[in-house]
Amino acid sequence: MGSGPLESRWETVIGLEVHTQLLTRAKLFCSCPNLFGGEPNTRVCPVCAGMPGALPVINAQAVRLAVRAGLALGCRINRTSLFSRKSYFYPDLPNGFQTSQWEPPICEGGRVEFISGGRPVSVGITRIHLENDAGKCLHEGLDASLVDLNRAGTPLVEIVSEPDLRSPDEAVDFMRHLRRLLVYLDVTDGNMEEGSMRCDVNISLRPRVKEGEGDEPYGTRAELKNLNSFNSILDAARHEQERQREILEAGGKVEQETRHYDPEARITRGMRSKENAPDYRYFPCPDLPPVFLEEQEVEKIRSGLPEFPEQRRLRFEADFGLNAEESGILTSSAALADYFEAALKAGGGGKRTATLILAELLPECARRGLSWSAVNFSPERLAHTVRMLDAGKVSLRVVREIFAELLDSDLPVDILAEQKGLLQLSDSSVLEEAVRAAVEGNPAEAAAYRGGKTRLLAFFVGQVMKATRGAGNPGLINKLLRQYLEE
Ligand SMILES: [Zn+2]
Repeated sequence: MGSGPLESRWETVIGLEVHTQLLTRAKLFCSCPNLFGGEPNTRVCPVCAGMPGALPVINAQAVRLAVRAGLALGCRINRTSLFSRKSYFYPDLPNGFQTSQWEPPICEGGRVEFISGGRPVSVGITRIHLENDAGKCLHEGLDASLVDLNRAGTPLVEIVSEPDLRSPDEAVDFMRHLRRLLVYLDVTDGNMEEGSMRCDVNISLRPRVKEGEGDEPYGTRAELKNLNSFNSILDAARHEQERQREILEAGGKVEQETRHYDPEARITRGMRSKENAPDYRYFPCPDLPPVFLEEQEVEKIRSGLPEFPEQRRLRFEADFGLNAEESGILTSSAALADYFEAALKAGGGGKRTATLILAELLPECARRGLSWSAVNFSPERLAHTVRMLDAGKVSLRVVREIFAELLDSDLPVDILAEQKGLLQLSDSSVLEEAVRAAVEGNPAEAAAYRGGKTRLLAFFVGQVMKATRGAGNPGLINKLLRQYLEE
């Protein structure tokens, strides 16, 4: 966290530009598949390779996903938006310009609210615009630089926030919130390691004033480019905050520039003085018509939005007595939350259904390296398992024991347990026999219990459980043991 003097004298001001790859089938302006990786330059056509004369056609799915993101972030959707050419030179940019939206962008003027450090934070969204991604330069292990254009033309939205964040921790929490929301809405896969989400951090310092005294104007900012993990955002912003503080306290001036974070050295380095918009010579793209959206189309996207994860999380907590961690995992994707609710609809009780997903299904799938949706455990099978537990036909202990087999089998849990001789015993005569054997086989413990050491009941329950291979009904065993010992 910030050091003492920093906290007292300077206020950190941060705004983010988040580049998010959209989960479309094809690239933004051509029909090449939008997939990560692959043999270099195998997913390329004249359009995304920037050949002269090749004409781009806008991907309607990308437009819909951008609108979906905009609505989720409380933005106004512009019925008309325009693509422009943003000129700059880099070897992985085959056209010599990026096709991006300048004025007007597709979405403007939103707001996002989330919790950071236990306090609510509210961040304005300046704009969201569509643009295409560049390719990649490959240098590693080579004595030359090569260019891979597989990524060139991948659809992105750039989400630009207002400078409303006040610490590196808040910036990371904002990014986490954004990622969670956009993954939940299937706008992006959110895979930061593959660069599906990355951000530029604009950061400056200004003298801190007392509450109610009005704000100082913003200080000169540096832009930290292309951070693609939560840790690198946090580290880079903290180091930059410290670097600027040292300059300001020595009476110097912070330069407006673009800086690169070196995670090995854990420092930021100046790259170039920051371009302003005129340097990019934006001009409307002559090859693309404006993007027109019918009111009806926007309304259709709005009505297709699911309940947001935050609302759903709170509802799960209230309705099923789950804690924040449990409800957070169940709402980490819309599909998992839907699965949970489908099992409830099929007749499973809330708390037990959640427990089976969280304590059995997800850990077992993690051990197998599989997604929970890839195993043989439909909402109906899950609900049936919960009903068998509720009815006392199988014990939780047995379900745990045979859970892996249950996933590999088509049999319902009670039939599988029966085949293995593990159906829960609620037959008093069988259990009475096991209780008698446990007490008479351990006369010293029985005497101690009768002499007042009632904690030994757990020992006897264990003995009976062992004898019935965990299949005894624990409530009934307790009752029978007490009766037998206290007679
Ligand atoms: Zn292409």
